[in-house]
Amino acid sequence: MASTTDTTALDRDVQQLARSLYRKAAQHKPSLFEAQDLLGRMIDWSLDDESLRVALFRFVDVLPSLESSSEIGRHLEEYFARVDHALSGLAILAQAVHAGTLVAPIVKRNVIKLARRFIAEESGNHLTTVLNSLRKEPAAFTIDVVGEATVSDGEATAMQERYLQLMRRLAAVSAKWPDIARIDEAPNGKIPRVNLSVKLSSLCARFDPLDPNTEAIVRERLRQLFREAAALGAAVTVDMEQYAFRELTLQIFRSVLEQEEFRAQPYAAIALQAYLTDAAQNTSELIKWARRRKRRIGVRLVKGAYWDSEVAWAKQKNWPIPVFLDKAETDASYEQVTRLLLESHDVIDAAFGSHNLRSLAHAIVAAKQIGVPANGYEMQMLYGMAEPVRQAIIENGQRVRVYLPVGELLPGISYLIRRLMENTSNTSFLRQTYADKKDIDGLIKAPEHAKPISPRRSESSGARQFRNEAPIDFSLAKNRENFAETLADVRGELKSSRRRGGEGWIDSVNPANPGEQLGQVRATSGAEAEKAIARATQFFPEWRATPARERAEMLFKAAAIMREQRWQLAAKELFEVGKGWRESDADVCEAIDYLDYYAHEMLRLAEPRETQQLASETNTYFYEPRGLAAVIAPWNFPLAILTGMTAAALVAGNCVLMKPAEQSPLMGVSLFEILQKAGVPDDALQLLQGGGDIGAQLVRSPQVHVIAFTGSREVGLEILREAYTTKSGQTHVKRVVCEMGGKNALIVDSDADLDEAVVHVIDSAFGYQGQKCSAASRIILLNEIHDRFFSRLVDATQSLKIGPPEDPRNAIGPVIDGEAKARIENYIRTGKKQAKCVLEMAAPKDGYFVGPAIFRDVDPHSRIAQEEIFGPVLSVIKAKDFEHALALANDSQFALTGGIFSRSPAHIELARKEFRVGNLYINRGITGAVVERQPFGGLKLSGIGSKAGGPDYLLQFLEPRTISENTLRHGFMPPEQTRK
Ligand code: NAD
Repeated sequence: MASTTDTTALDRDVQQLARSLYRKAAQHKPSLFEAQDLLGRMIDWSLDDESLRVALFRFVDVLPSLESSSEIGRHLEEYFARVDHALSGLAILAQAVHAGTLVAPIVKRNVIKLARRFIAEESGNHLTTVLNSLRKEPAAFTIDVVGEATVSDGEATAMQERYLQLMRRLAAVSAKWPDIARIDEAPNGKIPRVNLSVKLSSLCARFDPLDPNTEAIVRERLRQLFREAAALGAAVTVDMEQYAFRELTLQIFRSVLEQEEFRAQPYAAIALQAYLTDAAQNTSELIKWARRRKRRIGVRLVKGAYWDSEVAWAKQKNWPIPVFLDKAETDASYEQVTRLLLESHDVIDAAFGSHNLRSLAHAIVAAKQIGVPANGYEMQMLYGMAEPVRQAIIENGQRVRVYLPVGELLPGISYLIRRLMENTSNTSFLRQTYADKKDIDGLIKAPEHAKPISPRRSESSGARQFRNEAPIDFSLAKNRENFAETLADVRGELKSSRRRGGEGWIDSVNPANPGEQLGQVRATSGAEAEKAIARATQFFPEWRATPARERAEMLFKAAAIMREQRWQLAAKELFEVGKGWRESDADVCEAIDYLDYYAHEMLRLAEPRETQQLASETNTYFYEPRGLAAVIAPWNFPLAILTGMTAAALVAGNCVLMKPAEQSPLMGVSLFEILQKAGVPDDALQLLQGGGDIGAQLVRSPQVHVIAFTGSREVGLEILREAYTTKSGQTHVKRVVCEMGGKNALIVDSDADLDEAVVHVIDSAFGYQGQKCSAASRIILLNEIHDRFFSRLVDATQSLKIGPPEDPRNAIGPVIDGEAKARIENYIRTGKKQAKCVLEMAAPKDGYFVGPAIFRDVDPHSRIAQEEIFGPVLSVIKAKDFEHALALANDSQFALTGGIFSRSPAHIELARKEFRVGNLYINRGITGAVVERQPFGGLKLSGIGSKAGGPDYLLQFLEPRTISENTLRHGFMPPEQTRK
């Protein structure tokens, strides 16, 4: 550990070196900030104008996917004509925009030129020309192959092949190069000239830490790359991607290197990111491993390129943010990890990837202080960026390696955007140096750790606030192990539960293995249902009189109990309805959210309101419960939907007769027990187990006031008919909350990001085997991208494994029961007569499995395009333009969810207005609505409720009343405070 005096001396040296490097670098300007062409000028202007910066990046993002000049012209206009700016220079831009089509080819050429500053061409001699000129500097290289996101097995093997070919080709080329000691030699020998950077996600159809196949497949593919590298004397560096992949990436890297054949070769390195809050600890662990293994490895220390995304993803999921929020903290962490690496020079070859002169100078000075020779570590910089800094570092005698992306521009665009963002962000060293011309002293001073932020007021004030339950993070091994153990425990418990024979029992079976009985529940008889109705009727006045706060507290308590039991509940759900790990957990989270959210909502609504202030009269508006509520739920979200409807009815003060679906009775029991434990009185909530007959009996009962139903359209419409027929003895009109099915469409526009669209279409269509009311079952593809997208969709689907969901390798589990299986297979047969079935995947014979099926050229009016199938069957429909696509999407009796993938602002706007569904999703999947964030429910024949998980939902279980009292008696008006 360095003492304070050492630190001060070190810092003085760092600043001195940084200043001298700065002087050297200041003579040049990096090419990005040389604003010569239109695009260069736009980048310059965008530094001062956030709306222009957003428009510019979005435009650059979409550009490579635009084929015709008219398309480019249209997007140019859509993105820039509306940019609100004050800069006079933008007049030129405005002209360009209005010239639209005319300037399109120039703009495209400009962007290609810009992109080629960052991404080299792989073909022909281009690459070797670049490498040769780098060697002249002298600078070594590491190649990063940019490509489309890997979404299928075919793409993964093609990528691996590309890596192998590239290594071989470069090994042959580089063998002829004369030695340059500075970049080819290290204290412990020759440095491989060929250096390949590999993203592990590119080696697997879907890199998912939850799926054990990911590790097995990627490990094998990396092994082959390492083998080839060892044979060729090349180096491989494993790149680091998002935080969710880190643990698995490190695990794969280490486990391959633990194999005996790789004890000494190849030269292998891994990237670590200083912006992660646990970067130092993680680095220490890796160093310890290398020591134990007695193996030299390389570490490339970077700050991290996914900062915006990491923050956004963590916030979406309510997970702790894994990155430092303050740039100075990242810089400080970088210096801390720099020391750790240099101090471990016995096993670590450190590479410092940065353009920040302070960080680089710090590494150089620290190395000297620790005693690492100048050729014992290296500096890495990105191709096309910070060339003056690179020159200054080379002049200073350092070994420099350039990180060189190669490949096509279209798939390389996300890389380009990341680089542009980095260059132009307010905290970028380059921007501060070259564009903002900040004072050098400020730029090179020692980064300070930010002061701890005091907790937000809402958290410290004690006021309870609604917050969505965070899902389990299955990227962490400890959570995967925990859930696997819970599954085994729960299965054991279910097996040991007592069975009774005879009539009057409902069996719960595992749909993946129908021979496995999970439990039994007593079926409620008609007479028992009547008794329950009578009991509830009698208790209602008391429940109504219970203060809303007490009822809300019961829900808060139930939420707390559910949180404690969440692992077991998710495991039970997995077995009872055949849901995968994440989906089962998500259902439990949603159930907890409903309990919490509706409790908060009731507290909001419970306060009576004075409608108008009059001196002579009080006018009070308030809500009362309706009476008896029948809750009739489906099996597909067996905890969340049942909980949502029950919690809303109960907290509003209604006595609830709760009927779960006959396919998921155990989840019904679990919820019932939790609510009882939370203090809900026996007569306020009664559990009725059974099928449609019990449901129908409740609907018919003149004593029932409100029916909360979620299920199929057929049953829903039947319930509406029945409920609105007044029976003798009935003294009220029933209120029906009725959420029904969907036939949801997802449009993929001609300019969509296809990498993203493929992944989300698959999730939306085949997640939980398509058994979600929100599932995508119609995919509408614009002509231009139809064939390209379709073949990737089919390939990616084919890479999905089918089998029991307790095994996380299986992305596709069983459908709910034999009846569902028969119905879905029947639809597939019908579909084959009406359209072309391009994919019908084989499925295991035991269990209620149906393999995904995809149809193309589907007639939009055919049965498979119009009827809800509720299974893994996808109809793909072609559209000639976006308006046509919208018309096709709206051409349905249903209108629950819908979505579009598009990068055209005008099309997005049009969809907002004209795509008439209850929940519209833009550039994301169309399932998984989150309580409060996305209140959920459909239009047309999809439902008449007002949005589950939204601010109006509880009103359906309440009746508003108004009471007016004249307070004036013979001219005497009571003082204000006594008037209530
Ligand atoms: P379903 O309509 O068969 O059954 C739903 C519930 O209604 C079950 O509890 C069932 O026992 C009961 N029921 C059946 N016949 C009845 C009758 N005549 N009277 C009263 N109750 C009766 O639906 P399901 O198969 O359980 O669920 C799948 C359906 O639910 C799909 O159509 C899906 O789209 C829909 N769903 C809609 C939403 C939404 O929010 N809109 C959410 C989930 C599921």
